[in-house]
Amino acid sequence: MRPGIFIEPLNWINADKLPSRDYICGHCGKDISSSHGYTGSADYAKIYICHRCNQPTFFYGSKQVPGGLPARSVDHLPTEVEALWTESRYAYTVQAWTLVIMACRKMLMNISVAKGASEGRGFVDYVDWLDSKGYVPPGSSTLLAEIKDFGNKANHKIIPRQPEEADRFLTFLEMLLVFMFQYSGEVAPGDHAQNG
Ligand SMILES: [Zn+2]
Repeated sequence: MRPGIFIEPLNWINADKLPSRDYICGHCGKDISSSHGYTGSADYAKIYICHRCNQPTFFYGSKQVPGGLPARSVDHLPTEVEALWTESRYAYTVQAWTLVIMACRKMLMNISVAKGASEGRGFVDYVDWLDSKGYVPPGSSTLLAEIKDFGNKANHKIIPRQPEEADRFLTFLEMLLVFMFQYSGEVAPGDHAQNG
């Protein structure tokens, strides 16, 4: 659920039946179909209520606010990384692309240091370190090259970023976090031997 929102049972007064709309809820992240909410004087402006989390989403033509929650939650993350990962995903729903990328760059450094890299290195150094240690899965060389290229471009100054770049960073981080923390947390030492 979106951080900072206190959920209690909500009764949306006079909500109507609307034409069904499929969307990914920006609050709970579920892929839903809703036909419940409000319409205004203009037919292209509507508010739909999520039937999973009961939170509202505003649609203006094809625009959705907040946008769909991207990527997934990952288990067994270090506390600071988990907080940044959650922030990044919700920043994406309000089109804060630059902040998404800055947080992802910070996480890449954090997870590298957590796995044994030295502190104080450059962003691309950490990406190379993760790759050299086998944390970047085979077949992701194109994505890896894009991430390093984006990192080089924004090495010394903050520039406005594009949604495609934020997408790539989230995809790259999700892959690493699942592989480095969720899977390793689910496979406890000795499991392989016990299971043959
Ligand atoms: Zn929802």
